[in-house]
Parts: sequence; structure tokens; C-alpha cells
Amino acid sequence: MPNQSQASATDHQPSTQPNFRLPQVELLLQQAFLAPYIDSLSRPLVTQVVRETLSELRQSEGFRTTGIDQTCLEAQIIARCQRLVRQRQTRLINATGTLVHTNLGRSPLNAELWDEVRELNTGYNNLELDLATGKRGGRKGLISPLLTSLTQAEDSLVVNNNAASLFLLLQEMAKGREVIVSRGEQIQIGGGFRIPDILALSGATLVEVGTTNITTAKDYLDAITEQTALVLMVHRSNFAIRGFTESPDIGEVARALPDHIVLAVDQGSGLTTETFAPDETSVRQYLKAGADLVCYSGDKLLGGPQCGIIGGRADLIKRLEKHPMMRTFRPSRIVYALLERLLIHKLNKSPAGDGIAQRTLSNPAAMQGRAERLMAALPDCFVQVPAQLVVGGGTLPDEFYPAPALACLDSRPAQQLLDALRELPVPVIATVRQQQVLLNMASLLEDDMDVLISQLKTLLKPEKDIEKTIEIPQAGHPLSISREAL
Ligand SMILES: *Cc1c(COP(=O)(O)O)cnc(C)c1O
Repeated sequence: MPNQSQASATDHQPSTQPNFRLPQVELLLQQAFLAPYIDSLSRPLVTQVVRETLSELRQSEGFRTTGIDQTCLEAQIIARCQRLVRQRQTRLINATGTLVHTNLGRSPLNAELWDEVRELNTGYNNLELDLATGKRGGRKGLISPLLTSLTQAEDSLVVNNNAASLFLLLQEMAKGREVIVSRGEQIQIGGGFRIPDILALSGATLVEVGTTNITTAKDYLDAITEQTALVLMVHRSNFAIRGFTESPDIGEVARALPDHIVLAVDQGSGLTTETFAPDETSVRQYLKAGADLVCYSGDKLLGGPQCGIIGGRADLIKRLEKHPMMRTFRPSRIVYALLERLLIHKLNKSPAGDGIAQRTLSNPAAMQGRAERLMAALPDCFVQVPAQLVVGGGTLPDEFYPAPALACLDSRPAQQLLDALRELPVPVIATVRQQQVLLNMASLLEDDMDVLISQLKTLLKPEKDIEKTIEIPQAGHPLSISREAL
């Protein structure tokens, strides 16, 4: 740390001498070594750190007997500041191979999209003004017609996230009445968000039908009573049931259901025009098959900001928009701006309309290109091994796509290297397989490459012999990814 700062606070004493009188808080705060922390953490937080450090020192046995020198005092304050700096929101590099990673901010937005909405958000805008009449207008801009074009929904509305979509939908359509849900679809979607709980909170009564692996159209129809308001089908977003299974044809249920019962689907991922999951049912397909309402996330596959979207019958969407609690669900203008731009790009088939999964899976050569760039920049540091990418974020739980990974040739134990990567100024999040730290090329972004290379140049300590110890697994060997991460 800068010497000049030590001198200024302790003019009356040499800085390396043990000191039994601690400096004043204000004097310490003026020193140069704290300036960067005041910048990044704010003056009040740094003041609090300084106060706490001094007060703990005063009470410590060691200080009372031997005092403390300036360098040591500064080091203690810096260590505490650094702990806080690590808790700030910070950009990081995702080398896990999970594209939509719930712990890592879910979907990265396309930079072009972000740049395009800058002025719309840094200035005033027509969020609730109808420019044709000068009167108060709705918030949705062109979002509803754009979504009609994309999904064939008669009308759509946007809320803060898809959990909110589901809650609003159940509250408005089924409060105090019955909702029929298959036993195979009573899922938990991470973060303690459980379908039966949200149903109970919304004031609806759950009527379970079918079994874990088999639910038929007849099961739904047999469960209908006077009290039934809604049939809810939920996409099994973060697990798959294989083997002897049967889910009803939604069209069959839709055709047989009495008109006054709403058929709603929590589609989850927001699959629309993406091309990499041909077996998944898209929002449009659910609506076409007869769903009255479909709700989904705006970021997972769609590629927009995180939000929830409900699309479907115009009369039902109107009811949802009039719900007294709608105000608490409605997103900020930042979300509307990003979503509108995204949808325009998507409908024009421009790359800025692609979500991260589509961008990655439509260009596998780019993954291999990144592997080669890293190996060329850091010779002897890696061995390329076959691995997989998963889309993640509670989508496509059963799909693993091939992706290259680099196993790090480093003398440290895997966990130690994994921690060191995470402690870099721009943290790198990697995975471990068979005691090897893997950097998966699928989830690296082009903007990550320069900083990744320069950081790894100082971090990795290649050990040439280690190469022999790497077992190259068979292609198709499943990556071990914790369910938490999905
Ligand atoms: C992801 C998901 C949700 C939750 O969406 P959020 O936008 O995270 O609130 C709900 N249902 C399904 C089926 C999902 O896949």
C-alpha cells in the first residue's frame, strides 16, 4: 500500500513502531489506501469497517500488551474492505457450460439490445402517454401485437417474473375455487417455489389427479366439479420422467373441457422460434392446441430481460390486467423497453433477437474457436476434452449438447485451483470432473476472452507431466452439474 498514506496519518510517530494509541477514524479515512474502497463501497460502509476494526482492536488482549503498527492496522482494514468488495454485484466469467445459470444471473442480454434502449431509459419516455391523443396510455407499447405475431396469443401482458404470472393467474381465475393439477407436475422450481404452495397462497384449492408417471385426459375430466375454475398444466422444467409415462394430449383436454373452465399452461422456458429443441412444446403450440392462457419467462430461452409473460384469450388477459394487485406485479420501464426491442429483432430474425442458448447452439464452431484461442495463448496449460453444455435455468432438463472443454494442467489440487479462479479480479466459475478443473467453452462470451486470457496467464502454473494423468472421457459422458445450478 502507498507509503505516503502511512506518513500522513502518523506524522508524529514512525509507522513501523508498535502504537498503543489508535489513529482517529477521520484521519484514517483521509488516507490514500482507503480511497479506492470509498469509491467502490461508499464512505459510510468504509467508515463502519474502520470503526469496527478499531473497536475490536481496543478490546483485544494482543493490542493491549504489544500495540499495533500502522502497516498491520491497514492490512486488517483492507482485508475487511476486500471481503465487502467481493459481495458487490460483479461481472464474472461463466465457464460451467450451463448457459442460463440461475446463480450467475440467468441469461446474459445481448449487448446490442442493451445499447439500443439507453436513451429510452436515461431520458423521459411515453411509458404511459398516448402520443396520438396526449392522454394517458397503456404501458405495453407494441409488446402485445408483437407477441401476437410471435405466439398467436390474442393478447399478452408482462409481469415481474414467471412466478408472478402464475400467482396472478391463479388469484384472478381460481381464488376460492378448485384447480386441477397432475400429480406428475407438482414441482418445485428452485428457490422454494412450489406449485402446491403457490396455489394455496393464491387462495385456490388444489385437486390432484393421476399419478407421478401417468395422467390421462380422463383423469382431468373426471375431477371436474361445480367448484372447478381452472386446469393447470406445468412444464416439468428442472427434471425429466423417463420410462413408462403418459401425459394427456392437451388438445383432447381442451376439447372436452366445459367453456367456463380455464385451461392454463405454465410453459416456463418461453420457447418460441428457437431451433435447438424440436421436441419441446412452444408457447404457440400450446395456444394452438387449445390452452386459454400460457405463461412463460422472458429471459430463459426468449432472450429478453427477466420477466413473466402471460399470453392467451383477450377477455382473460383484460381480467388479469384489472386485478387490484396488478400494480405490484408490473415491471419497470427498463423491462418493457428491452422486451419490445427484443421482439422486433426476433420477428425480423436478426441475431440480436436470439437468446443465449440459440446464439450458442447455432454456432458450435465458435466454441471450438475459443478453445483454440486459449490453447494458442497459453501453450502447455490445457488439454481439450469432450464435455456437454446444458441450457439450464429450468429448461430442457434432459438435453445435453456436445461442447468442448479445456482441462487445466496445473499442479494445485482441483478445489484449490477452482477457488483461485473464483478469487480472480473478474471471477471465473469453472467445474471439476474427475479431479480436473474444466473450463467449458460453451458458456464463455466473446467479450470474456481477452480478460480471461490475461488473468489465466498469471494464474496457471502448468506442470508438463500432469498431462499423462488426465483421463479423456468418452464423448457423451454426462457432466456432473449440481441440480442447484439448474
Ligand atoms: C422458470 C420457471 C418458473 C419461474 O420463472 P421465474 O421467471 O424464475 O419466476 C415457473 N415455472 C416454470 C415451469 C419455469 O420453468
